[in-house]
Amino acid sequence: MAIAALPGSPGDVEVRHLRTLYQLLSALTQAQNLQEVYEAAITGLLEASAADRSAILMFDDDGVIRFHAWRGLSSEYRQAVTGHSPWSQGARNAQPIVVPDVFVETTLGEYHDTFRRERIRAVVMIPLALGSGVFGKFMLYYPEAHECQGDELAMAQAIASHVSIAVERKRSELARIESEKRLQAILDNSSTIIFMKDLQGRYILVNHRFEELFGVSKKEAMGRTDHDLFTPELAETYRVNDKTVVETGEPLSIEERAAHVDGIHTYISIKFPFEGPDGKPAGVAGIATDITERKHLEMASERLAAIVESSDDAIIGKDLNGIIQSWNKGAERIFGYTADETVGQPISMLAAPDRRNEMPDLLGKIRQGQRIDHFDTLRLTKDGRTIPVSLTVSPVRDPSGNIIGASKIARDISSRRDYEKREQEARRTAELLNRVGPQLVTELDLDKLVQSVTDLATSLVSAEFGAFFHNVVNEQGDSYMLYSLSGVPREAFASFPMPRSTDLFGPTFRGEGVVRIDDVTQDSRYGKNPPYHGMPKGHLPVRSYLAAPVVSRSGEVLGGLFFGHSETGQFTESHEAIVMGIAAQAAIAMDNARLFERAQWAQQELQRSNEELRRANQDLETFAYSASHDLQEPLRNIAISAQLLQRSSGHQLEAEQSGFLKTILTGANRMTGLLQDLLAYTHATRYAEGAPPATDPGVVLGAVLENLAGSIAQAKAEITWGDLPTVNIHESRLAQLFQNLISNALKYRSQEAPRIHVSGNERDGWCAFSVSDNGIGLEMRYADQIFGLFKRLHSRDQYVGSGIGLSICQRIVEQYGGRIWVEKSAPGEGSTFAFTLPARVR
Ligand code: ADP
Repeated sequence: MAIAALPGSPGDVEVRHLRTLYQLLSALTQAQNLQEVYEAAITGLLEASAADRSAILMFDDDGVIRFHAWRGLSSEYRQAVTGHSPWSQGARNAQPIVVPDVFVETTLGEYHDTFRRERIRAVVMIPLALGSGVFGKFMLYYPEAHECQGDELAMAQAIASHVSIAVERKRSELARIESEKRLQAILDNSSTIIFMKDLQGRYILVNHRFEELFGVSKKEAMGRTDHDLFTPELAETYRVNDKTVVETGEPLSIEERAAHVDGIHTYISIKFPFEGPDGKPAGVAGIATDITERKHLEMASERLAAIVESSDDAIIGKDLNGIIQSWNKGAERIFGYTADETVGQPISMLAAPDRRNEMPDLLGKIRQGQRIDHFDTLRLTKDGRTIPVSLTVSPVRDPSGNIIGASKIARDISSRRDYEKREQEARRTAELLNRVGPQLVTELDLDKLVQSVTDLATSLVSAEFGAFFHNVVNEQGDSYMLYSLSGVPREAFASFPMPRSTDLFGPTFRGEGVVRIDDVTQDSRYGKNPPYHGMPKGHLPVRSYLAAPVVSRSGEVLGGLFFGHSETGQFTESHEAIVMGIAAQAAIAMDNARLFERAQWAQQELQRSNEELRRANQDLETFAYSASHDLQEPLRNIAISAQLLQRSSGHQLEAEQSGFLKTILTGANRMTGLLQDLLAYTHATRYAEGAPPATDPGVVLGAVLENLAGSIAQAKAEITWGDLPTVNIHESRLAQLFQNLISNALKYRSQEAPRIHVSGNERDGWCAFSVSDNGIGLEMRYADQIFGLFKRLHSRDQYVGSGIGLSICQRIVEQYGGRIWVEKSAPGEGSTFAFTLPARVR
């Protein structure tokens, strides 16, 4: 650029211009932003020209030219002339326009007032332009008319071209910074790790994600290598990969692992070489995407897929139009279709004939986002079966939450239903049997029992008719069959023979278990036997057949229950269970009834023999009584005659004859004693009249001792007694007991004077008495024997007696339900006799 000297003092002017330019350039290079560029330009322009005011206007992005910097201009002026430009934006070859006097210039007529108010007389307009044409202008303003030309103009133009360049450079620099900022912002907002390393492996760029995941700031990372930041192993892996990229000049896609604060993450890294401004490799850039979550998701979805595939339930996906989208193996198993046959087909293909409306309803609910849980319904399978299923249908949403379809889980509940039904029936059967059981068991009349078993069973299995054939053994030991019927009159069977052990009936009579046939006429076991080869003519029409043996506890087959129905397939598994239960109950009841019958018979038998015994006893007593009574008379005659004979002619008799006479007399005496004892015994065996009264033993004992006073005195005996409890017995009987025992104690005395003690006590409703003496005693091995009739331990020569006394005692206590025994005895040591009697009833 030629710098012309201004008129006047050329040297000074030149120097001033040069200084101005120098200052301008240095200001421009130091300018941080465009404003500083403009300010520097205005300063330079005002210094290098005669103008007293100046401005820079720029075309903005909207194409309007506006003031960007000015000096000495009012805002009214600026406002008034904003938008005015002699060149359009981008115009080429634009030249400066010098207006020496604005009032002379008619093209500016519209601004004359404005100029006047602003006291502007002359202006210069210098285009700011570069390769892309005009982008702004410089304005110089003069208060007086002034023609800018020569050096002044050249200087202004020089400044304009410098400023143009500077503006452009600044603009592009700003744009670069801006774009770098934008780039960094993009990089920083990326969820992938982005970095650049130079050829030495030093980081020259890292993004925010990098900082975040590796826990290093940009500052720390810059200029550092992987070895500074990571473990030696990882750093080495990275370095090898980087090297490969640089050497091959090709991008590399690899799965890399990196340790983060929350554990090891997996990345898909794309590494690629980048070039420097010289076109040579300058380093490696990398973009690493964290796929840890994706990996997890992949694994989760693989697992999910495996679960879906292996599920026993049908899992079906469908869209909102009901078109099947997915179909698992469970669905294949339950419905019979393969995925190929169903995917893309409408779900209605599974609708059960009478449930066509159900699916649209379900879809309607799904569209509203509802979930349907465990809804029991019916569905159609490929082979046309209708099966019960339990459905759970949930809406499927896309990532933004819109419902796009439904996933449906269908469980085949046929087996559950079967199970529930079976369980229900079993419960019903058990209840029925529980009700029936006690009813049967309490029936002890065998005939009635058999009839009620038949009736009950027939009604419980809803048979048209039922029969119970049971075996009976008569008194001669012959076995024959009886039967009871239900649902048909007896005449209907009367003319037919008893069922025989054919293929059909045999298993029942042999106790082999239940036979259930849906159609007996179609059964191979049926109709094989002559003469009828099937049912006799006129037999009830049997199609459904059910039979069960009734087997006793001992394993004996008591009979068989048979049921029939004229329709086929009437008897079910649960009927079978009912019949088995009733058969078992019937067996128990029949066993009981039989036992009862036998027990009744035994009871009757016992009663009969008791009666016989009683009669025999009575006869015996009558005989004994009358014998002893009737014999007394002639015996007395014999004794008296013998005594008379002795008295009258005893002295005349020979010794031998007198001996005979003595024998007659002793015999007669003994016989008299015996007869008296026998009479007493027969008396004692006779039951006393009326209920036993409460008796005071003390009173009875007193009377007895009075009675025995002679014997007691003779024997010099000492008799003592304690408190004796009141007892329930007839007085005369208790007197007999005391009398017998005390007189025995006196009779069987030793050398010593007899000491006899009577004691008694009451316990548990019984009174126990004892009579103890200090007599000769006896050997305990005879202790039971001596209570027998006529049983004695001594000869009559030693001790008189008949052996009846203790028998009488035993008879008496036993009549009152008591007992008598030898409590204690030994030869030479005395004896204690004890007996019990019922205590007084209080
Ligand atoms: P008897 O006294 O008429 O012989 P009992 O029936 O009264 O008949 O007695 C049977 C036998 O028991 C007696 O013969 C005697 O041997 C024995 N006996 C009974 N009482 C006593 C007693 N207190 N001491 C020893 N022996 C006795």
